[in-house]
Amino acid sequence: MPEPAQKGEKIFRGIPVSAGVCRGKILVLGKSQASVPRREVAEAEILEEISRLERALILTRQQIVEVQRKVSTGMGAEEGGIFDAHLLVLEDRTLLDEVIRNIQEKRFNAEYAFHVVAEKYASTLAAIADDYLRERATDMRDVTSRILNNMLGREEEVDLKKLKEPCIIISYDLTPSTTAQLDRKIVLGFATDIGGRTSHTAIMARSLRIPAVVGLKSISGELVNGQYALLDGFNGVVIINPTDQTLFEYGQLIRKQVSLQEKLRDIQSKPAVTLDGHSIMLSANVEQATDAAEVRANGANGVGLYRTEFLFINRDVLPTEEEQFQAYRQMAAALKPEPVVIRTLDLGGDKFLSHLAVPTEMNPFLGWRAIRYCLQETTVFRAQLRAILRASVEGNVKMMYPMISGLDELNQANALVEECRAELRMRKLPFDENMEIGAMIEIPSAVMVANSLAKRLKFFSLGTNDLIQYTLAVDRMNEKVAHLYEPTHPAILRLIKATVEAGHKAGIWVGVCGEMAGDPVLTPLLLGLGVDELSAAPPLVPSIKFLIRRMKLSEAKALAEFALNCESSVEILARCQAFAREIAPSLFESKT
Ligand code: PEP
Ligand code: MG
Repeated sequence: MPEPAQKGEKIFRGIPVSAGVCRGKILVLGKSQASVPRREVAEAEILEEISRLERALILTRQQIVEVQRKVSTGMGAEEGGIFDAHLLVLEDRTLLDEVIRNIQEKRFNAEYAFHVVAEKYASTLAAIADDYLRERATDMRDVTSRILNNMLGREEEVDLKKLKEPCIIISYDLTPSTTAQLDRKIVLGFATDIGGRTSHTAIMARSLRIPAVVGLKSISGELVNGQYALLDGFNGVVIINPTDQTLFEYGQLIRKQVSLQEKLRDIQSKPAVTLDGHSIMLSANVEQATDAAEVRANGANGVGLYRTEFLFINRDVLPTEEEQFQAYRQMAAALKPEPVVIRTLDLGGDKFLSHLAVPTEMNPFLGWRAIRYCLQETTVFRAQLRAILRASVEGNVKMMYPMISGLDELNQANALVEECRAELRMRKLPFDENMEIGAMIEIPSAVMVANSLAKRLKFFSLGTNDLIQYTLAVDRMNEKVAHLYEPTHPAILRLIKATVEAGHKAGIWVGVCGEMAGDPVLTPLLLGLGVDELSAAPPLVPSIKFLIRRMKLSEAKALAEFALNCESSVEILARCQAFAREIAPSLFESKT
């Protein structure tokens, strides 16, 4: 898309994470950590800037008094008294005089002038070795964010479930749990300052089909509520005040998309078979029990990854065994006889439970996550294992463990499964004695010991999202290192190849359920490396099938052979792109 020259249009570029184009008014979520906009005010504007500051102070005072009243009524006068310190900040003459001087003398806009002074006070307080004074720094920052939100017209804390008007959300960040609650009829799209392609927020957006762009650096600090925007989730662009020319070009892009969707619908019920007759298992990744309809509608063969942690977040108490059993069974029954691979709990990393007092960690992705958490919190784990086993009566359930790093963890998990089986027999509850158990291969050490793991499992599923971050030491959430997050890095391809070889040697199948499996550019490469199954977010499945039906496995093998002998990830990616674009050009017409 060319850069339009028309005045008023402003383009922000980030990382595309969920396809689609939307247009609408923006809603900027508050509590942004992003920079506060700074501009020089003209002499004639000084009085108006000071009035803006005063209006924001009055409004903030009203809001704090109201919060204080509610807290005092609901919890008691002592708790309400906490807000006295907040009100004092608003009356601190020394602070306010300094802010006004900054507006008059330095010609700062009101919000920037306030931010600079308040941050100076807050950091001084925070550095003092006195608990009471450090607390005042927190008060100062809390009030500051309220005042800034009022001046910038940002919402303080929006209950996203209560939104009535369709909008595009702009935010510093969105957590996976918040994203899981978005209603796609209301939230047309979202854009964030930070984030990466394989963060769970991005994964959730793709599942929900909400166009999204992340890694836009400072967008939340530069925009205000009500501005009109076009968000392009294909190319990672947000355009404020799009010109007529831009809208026209996007109209054409949408028409191409509609015609592609028609082609994809035509193959919905057709098999994923290559031109040279090889059938590929093509499954879907799901997060909620209600996603079964999406799996079928997109023509997938069952579920290759059911991320059960979304059953656990956004609630105050853990789901019971019974509740989990119902959810898992519902998914299995809806998709029978197609397989449903249920992954045991993968909490931690970027997915947390608000109601569990899990301490904040320095490196959550390297910490108390997934199987590590489950092998210590065995009551939680056992309840889930029993629920999955009970759901296996449907006959099509498989189970897999996340984040297995070596044989000990696998043996411990399998021993717990044995105990749960015994418990269910005692309780006379039926389950499938032959339910297959597999493991995600997403830690490099697991690849190195894949031969040992394979002997004790029925399948492997490569979690490339984590495998890439752990192998290349690149945080999958961090936009600053997103350019180093390279799925076609020769090291990654060798790890995939080694996993496939170890699995096949032991006679088990090997799938990929990381986001690599949902990128049509990489489909021939993965299949050429010998992968048996691909599992992707339901909306991505039709494009992958479209490509599979247009390629020959023999050519994919040649591509993989080239890749395994190539030293450059960029060259490998370029070869994959050329191959995919040649066999299925219409899939890529939305990309600039
Ligand atoms: C992966 O790591 O590739 C994967 C599929 O698991 P998750 O994205 O949930 O970590
Ligand atoms: Mg993972």
